[in-house]
Amino acid sequence: MIIMDANATKEQIEHVLKEIRKYGLRADVSRGEYKTVIGLIGDERKIPFANFALLPGVKEVRMVETPYKLISKEYSKFFGWASEDMVIKVGNTEIGGSEPVFIAGPCAVESKTQLFKIAEGVKKAGAHILRGGVFKPRSSVHSFQGLGAGSWEEAEEALKWLAAAGKRFELPVITEVRGETQVDLVAQYVDILQIGARNMYDQDLLAKVAKKGKPILFKRHFGAGIEEFLSFAEYIAAEGNKAIVLCERGIIPVGKGKNYTRYTLDLAAVPAIQKETYLPIMVDPSHGTGRRDLIFNMSCAAIAAGACGLMIEVHHNPQEALVDGQQMITPEELKDVIDACQRIHKLIAPKRSKN
Ligand code: PEP
Ligand code: MN
Repeated sequence: MIIMDANATKEQIEHVLKEIRKYGLRADVSRGEYKTVIGLIGDERKIPFANFALLPGVKEVRMVETPYKLISKEYSKFFGWASEDMVIKVGNTEIGGSEPVFIAGPCAVESKTQLFKIAEGVKKAGAHILRGGVFKPRSSVHSFQGLGAGSWEEAEEALKWLAAAGKRFELPVITEVRGETQVDLVAQYVDILQIGARNMYDQDLLAKVAKKGKPILFKRHFGAGIEEFLSFAEYIAAEGNKAIVLCERGIIPVGKGKNYTRYTLDLAAVPAIQKETYLPIMVDPSHGTGRRDLIFNMSCAAIAAGACGLMIEVHHNPQEALVDGQQMITPEELKDVIDACQRIHKLIAPKRSKN
């Protein structure tokens, strides 16, 4: 990382960037209120640090050891952000701001009527963002794959419903992008692009999605450690897009015998991750537990752990949902979750240790 003098000129910054490129590395330029910090992307060992320290306008050169330096707290400390944590604005909603944010909606968009009914319900319950899968990642090829599996036209129609429902109920919208070919289409219709757990490791998809310049909800793979999760978020940041919302959604359960939860929701990951990065982190208790009877408790626990919000699957009639009905709650139940979480957040926010 290269920290420039507070009064370094544009030419001096350009000169440093040119030198970095000479060594085959890329650079991330973060202009803070008082300082400009240049992060190196690539193998830092190729750079003669001592020489860089002598370049005009350079204040300090530091080696950052973590594999996720661009999203690290160590890096943001130097830009002069007020709180060192990032707030991502989507419409009028601030993710990572002073209030918890609730993303809610069906697992999959099934029809226009279904989507509008649920959108109305989640809006009434107090949700801020509407979700709905069009391209669904499924474990079995024999199950419903989302309307996106039908044809390109059907996918686009479902995306149009999502955008229209968002407009009608004043909710920004989010959907998952499962593959590179879907990125351009999906990005036309949604406010936030979701990268699902199964694609956390897909570097090419991450780069392609990042380049759209829209906020990204980035879900942890169920087999990924925290360092891996953050290291792959770094691939998005390395493309110049730092509007990344991390999402803990459960890891593979351990031990023999029956699993009582679909995954093990790793709530300790929330405060642990907050010590490492300035990016906001949310929790998805729906996929994390796979059980609607656990959603209320685990939502409260996630907010108590410091999550900046929740993503919850909601259906007006979970029994008739084509996907994930067993983990969906109703809009009325969502309201209870939101009310309780808001009260917990108020209680906890002033005392929570973040840094
Ligand atoms: C989803 O949120 O629709 C989803 C499929 O979740 P995950 O990628 O966490 O399994
Ligand atoms: Mn689902």
